[in-house]
Amino acid sequence: LGSTLPICNVNARGSGDIMFLQTRPIQVLLVKDDHTFELDEAALSRILLSEEVRDREVVAISVAGAFRKGKSFLMDFMLRYMYNHVSASENWLGDASEPLTGFSWRGGSERETTGIQIWSEVFLVDKPDGRKVAVLLMDTQGTFDSQSTLRDSATVFALSTMISSIYFRSSLMMCLLFQLFTEYGRLAMEETFLKPFQSLIFLVRDWSFPYEFPYGQDGGMKFLEKRLKVKNQHEELQNVRKHIHSCFTNISCFLMPHPGLKVATNPHFDGRIKEIDGEFINNLKILVPWILSPRNIDVKEINGSKITCRGLLEYFKAYIKIYQG
Ligand code: GDP
Ligand code: MG
Repeated sequence: LGSTLPICNVNARGSGDIMFLQTRPIQVLLVKDDHTFELDEAALSRILLSEEVRDREVVAISVAGAFRKGKSFLMDFMLRYMYNHVSASENWLGDASEPLTGFSWRGGSERETTGIQIWSEVFLVDKPDGRKVAVLLMDTQGTFDSQSTLRDSATVFALSTMISSIYFRSSLMMCLLFQLFTEYGRLAMEETFLKPFQSLIFLVRDWSFPYEFPYGQDGGMKFLEKRLKVKNQHEELQNVRKHIHSCFTNISCFLMPHPGLKVATNPHFDGRIKEIDGEFINNLKILVPWILSPRNIDVKEINGSKITCRGLLEYFKAYIKIYQG
């Protein structure tokens, strides 16, 4: 798998020099054309069992959604935060003319794959209470062009939900799909583990009614409450709502403004901040630390026990077995 992914360079700041690390997204779970799952256990083990992280409690953050929804774009800003916030706390976004690298630093002809990618570097973060935890960033992608790929995607989303502490959805629209995958998740849980998932954040992009519900998490919560009100709703939607509430401990929603036409339409746009709408950047400065700041990150728990990187690898393998039947 390694050779099919180009190496990308992330500037590791802090020393004053630019240090080139061979960090990149690693495809750890792949859904193949025949709808079977392939777990790259060797790659996953290299990441999770490396000496510095394997016995650390893990915070797993997963962003999930369809293709071309801006997941990689968002995750690259999350990477910037992870690389910069210690040395440049207020200025973690960095230079306004610097191209954005990370998950999106990939060739345009790359095939769209359903599966899970993990950032090759696990970040060690000091929590305010003195604990050092390991932070893992995951990109979960699905395709929705047929009944069978929909099913594959639901399974992949269920898997990533089970192994993450924060789960990010890029839209509110795929309610039925969501139900399908939480149903799956519950099935797996009933057989093995009783505790629900941790945090679910709906991210609504290109929000264009800030006068109705303002950007950010307060507007998002009000919007979500309205959407999920049970009264006068179609039975199917009511079930979705009940499912969501029975599966996650924390549910929130964030309304994100449109990033501007350069981002959405210019093929030569390289991610530099000065070409992104100011309103988007302002909200990014709220959204990213809200998810990733040392005080806000939550260690992954299963059945009330905190999980280490080594433990997460075992769960990953166990869950895959459940879905492989
Ligand atoms: P992914 O397939 O979900 O990882 O999507 P990408 O991050 O590769 O982004 C797909 C396209 O959407 C790129 O051209 C981005 O510049 C653009 N994009 C990223 N974020 C947004 C957003 O919030 N709104 C809009 N309209 N476009 C975005
Ligand atoms: Mg992507």
